[in-house]
Amino acid sequence: MPVPVLLSDIGNVLTFFDFSVAARRVAERSPWPAEALSARLDHLKGPFENGDLDDATFLREAVAALEFRGSEAEFARIWCEIFTENAAMRATLEPLAGRIPMRLLSNTSGLHKEHLLAEFGIFQPFDGGVYSYSAKCSKPGEEIFRKTIEELDLDPALTFYIDDLEPNIATARRLGFEAHHYDARRHDEFERELNAWLRNHEL
Ligand SMILES: [Mg+2]
Repeated sequence: MPVPVLLSDIGNVLTFFDFSVAARRVAERSPWPAEALSARLDHLKGPFENGDLDDATFLREAVAALEFRGSEAEFARIWCEIFTENAAMRATLEPLAGRIPMRLLSNTSGLHKEHLLAEFGIFQPFDGGVYSYSAKCSKPGEEIFRKTIEELDLDPALTFYIDDLEPNIATARRLGFEAHHYDARRHDEFERELNAWLRNHEL
């Protein structure tokens, strides 16, 4: 029987990311300036997040596209070291561990997901999730939300979903989720809504 669940996006909710950090480091070892690097990977990023490119293929093609003077392993490390934890969010969620199941729903690659889960304590209370690279579809499409409902045995009406992007929130609400449009600058607003939801479900 479905129970109340907290379902969360990752990027700009649980961890922040700054691609320019990686771009600056890559640019030191590439003929291309930092500002040009992101665009040079545009043709790879979508297929990589949707699971159409595996990690090895992505790394090989990215190193080639950027003319990076280094190994694929070195590039992978730089590619992953772009995240920082949302400390306010960790402080809010940590005390809820064990009180409410927490799951993830993220557009991400296998490379980033493995790195994030290994590196940051904020993921500790989370138990599994659905990721675009393995689901082979991505937000804001409905398909990945439907897979999430199915695979995680969710009742959307009992699920508090957190995401920072409006189109993802719109899809979630259309499918009946209780959705919170997160903005780290208004974390207190999030806390109030979450607490009200917890009280409503006597959690
Ligand atoms: Mg996000």
